[in-house]
Amino acid sequence: MTALLQTLRGQPVATRVLERALTDGHVHHAYLFDGPPGVGKELAAFGLAQALVCAEPVAHFACGTCSPCKRAVPRGEKRLPVHPDVVVLERSLYEAAQIGRKSPETQDISVDQVRTLVLARAAFRAHEDRAKVFILRGAEELSASAANALLKTLEEPMRGTFFILLSAQADALLATIRSRTQRVRFGALSDELLSELLAERGIDPEARALALAAAKGSIELALNALKQDAAGYELFVDGAIEAVLAPSFAAALSVGEEMKRLNRDDAIATLLAVGRKFAATAKEHANTQVGDLWARRFALVEQAISALHGNGSPQLVGEALFSRLRRT
Ligand SMILES: [Zn+2]
Repeated sequence: MTALLQTLRGQPVATRVLERALTDGHVHHAYLFDGPPGVGKELAAFGLAQALVCAEPVAHFACGTCSPCKRAVPRGEKRLPVHPDVVVLERSLYEAAQIGRKSPETQDISVDQVRTLVLARAAFRAHEDRAKVFILRGAEELSASAANALLKTLEEPMRGTFFILLSAQADALLATIRSRTQRVRFGALSDELLSELLAERGIDPEARALALAAAKGSIELALNALKQDAAGYELFVDGAIEAVLAPSFAAALSVGEEMKRLNRDDAIATLLAVGRKFAATAKEHANTQVGDLWARRFALVEQAISALHGNGSPQLVGEALFSRLRRT
């Protein structure tokens, strides 16, 4: 078990702000962690919460080993800590009955969730007498009434109460909420760091390259790209291989036509499936001419995925890709 804040990587600005706040004993009562998904905002939030509830802090930082520190670590599919003073709010995180609703919460973080989890406890001390920390995932999804209900507490919470709002679209938050928080910006992760993080998770180099092409600086997007189920793309992948190998250009054109019908996200997912197949073929024939050929084709697919991220149209990117592939 470790102190989470010390595992945050690639966010020098946020790290500096939070470390200084802890060292000076001036932790703000409401932060807005603002930045793309999958870059460490949530890790930082739980790390800060850990430091605030730790029973034996070391120079104001979480020790990482005491019972509160361990219980502040999120676990399970819903990534919820078992510590009663570290409370997570997120749309649809709780059953309707748990937050006093009749119907499930589908559209936004409802005022019911804010009432049950925050306001009902606002006047009480922390269960374990150190700090109460509320972490709001996707804070831009607070409904207008939930946001309004939160305002007063957010402005003047009871001593020892902290809010950490996480958002990839901070500008979509009500200005009244934003103005009551201290904004901490989180940036996209570098390809170098992403590659390291993927390697640490045991992902092999071909898959890493592919995941990087889809990552846009986010470890979450990188891992999602690897998880995608190949099943739905088999037909396209078969068509793609045929288009590369067929003597006539017709098959390549028809693949381009097919890509025209896809939106950008689907086109990326489709090319990821093609890339995985090419990488697997290259690996199967590693250290042979055939293997090298498929490795070059794989690199072209990677470039095409990057082009789609750079706003290239699926049809044009698809056509260019398959005409290049045929020339390899
Ligand atoms: Zn501790």
